[in-house]
Amino acid sequence: MSQIAFIGLGHMGGPMALNLIKAGYKVSVFDLVAESLARARDAGATVAASATQAVQGCDIVISMLPASQHVEGLYLGDDGLLQHIASGALVIDCSTIAPQSAIKVSQAAREKGLRMVDAPVSGGTAGAEAGTLTFIVGGDAADLDQARPLLECMGKNIFHAGDAGAGQVAKICNNMLLGVLMAGTAEALALGAANGLDPHVLSDIISKSSGRNWATELYNPWPGVMDHAPASKDYAGGFGVDLMLKDLGLAAEAAMAVKAATPLGEMARNLYAMHSGNGHGKLDFSSILKLYNQP
Ligand code: NAD
Repeated sequence: MSQIAFIGLGHMGGPMALNLIKAGYKVSVFDLVAESLARARDAGATVAASATQAVQGCDIVISMLPASQHVEGLYLGDDGLLQHIASGALVIDCSTIAPQSAIKVSQAAREKGLRMVDAPVSGGTAGAEAGTLTFIVGGDAADLDQARPLLECMGKNIFHAGDAGAGQVAKICNNMLLGVLMAGTAEALALGAANGLDPHVLSDIISKSSGRNWATELYNPWPGVMDHAPASKDYAGGFGVDLMLKDLGLAAEAAMAVKAATPLGEMARNLYAMHSGNGHGKLDFSSILKLYNQP
């Protein structure tokens, strides 16, 4: 059975690593946050003193970090992790980062005799905990075949989007649409409420009408409409405003690279930038409702 190193135990990486441990894998972990390491240790992980120590003796390395600079910082450079991973090992980066960044790290890995796939996820923290994530993979089909049993411990749907970086392109397209849909849903609910409708009733109506979408069905931005949604927990947990802003920035960069027009994506990026600038960067992204529905 594979020996796994898991780097990055945040909102997503923490529960993902736990699902591998539950499936019986030996997992050595590293994060910069002591509490996250303690939780993983309690669940049966081997806690390493550094990322370099975590990868010793491992044939699979999984990372789940915030953004491109963290992934490049971890793997590249004279003392980067690629210098320390055993030859022939498979690296699976699940972070959402720029496609160009994923390609750069993947090429560097190949030059060191390693294999790498980009495998960003969709499904949020609930999907990470339940092991029902969607993995969107870029890289060689043979490498995905090797990764598949592990991904199946953490997710339900696994897609091969294409070559290195393609997983990131598909993920960015999905999240640009999600940002637009969430802002549009918040706008519609605020409009209805301002005109005297009960947001619960309006949400029920939209959920069974042509405006329905993932936000109205599973992740309603209005507090109290869905007990399990971050909106009903003061927008705590979930998928942060600043992470959504990062993904909309990645979409804008990807659009610039090929001169594509993404006017709705750009509008959404500006809305989330204003919202973050108002001091809400750490709240769940459904809190974009606050832009429309000021108390
Ligand atoms: P997070 O900020 O909660 O976790 C990131 C973790 O990485 C932190 O614990 C941090 O300490 C750790 N870290 C950073 N640099 C490190 C380093 N050099 N070595 C070791 N650990 C390091 O973020 P998250 O919500 O878990 O998101 C992770 C990635 O998944 C992001 O790219 C995000 O866009 C993507 N994502 C998040 C969600 C979500 O709902 N939160 C959903 C889908 C995809």
